[in-house]
Amino acid sequence: MTADDARAPDRPVIFLDFDGPLTHARYLASQLPGVEHHSPQDEEWSDRLDPAAVARVGRIMEATGARVVVISAWRQTMSTGQLARHLRRRGLPLRSAYDVDRTPVTGDRCEEIRAWLDAHAMVDRFVVIDDEPRAWGPDRLVCPTWAEGLTDADVDRAVAILAAPTVPPGVVLRAYAAG
Ligand SMILES: [Mg+2]
Repeated sequence: MTADDARAPDRPVIFLDFDGPLTHARYLASQLPGVEHHSPQDEEWSDRLDPAAVARVGRIMEATGARVVVISAWRQTMSTGQLARHLRRRGLPLRSAYDVDRTPVTGDRCEEIRAWLDAHAMVDRFVVIDDEPRAWGPDRLVCPTWAEGLTDADVDRAVAILAAPTVPPGVVLRAYAAG
């Protein structure tokens, strides 16, 4: 992917939650006992991200050319650069600053995604990866479990979703979020 490709206004988007898809019970249990109750300092936040789950996000990016837009609560206390650094440290192959963005913080995740889509009108392919279904429609949602995190089956589903444009951009999410 060239720098121009990275900045393409119609580049597909993975709206990505962290706690659930990338930080999950099976991974935390495999680490030091009690880590799930430990409040991490700075760099240690990376340790909570399962590298196998992060690699699966990388596979979705490779297969579709998508970039990541972080929807996780982590962005309430971290800059976009910090979020990207944590993902990179756990193995996500980021090639450009344009590979990672974030939604605005309003307190309502559907509103936050809608606001981001409104500001990026050329984007017509996106997937939401979140362990909580919230209000978005099932045709754009990949919903890993807190128990297992992002799986290979989730990768296949995300790639299939990203192959299908919404018409017009954002309309599917809006229709579901309105309810
Ligand atoms: Mg979550």
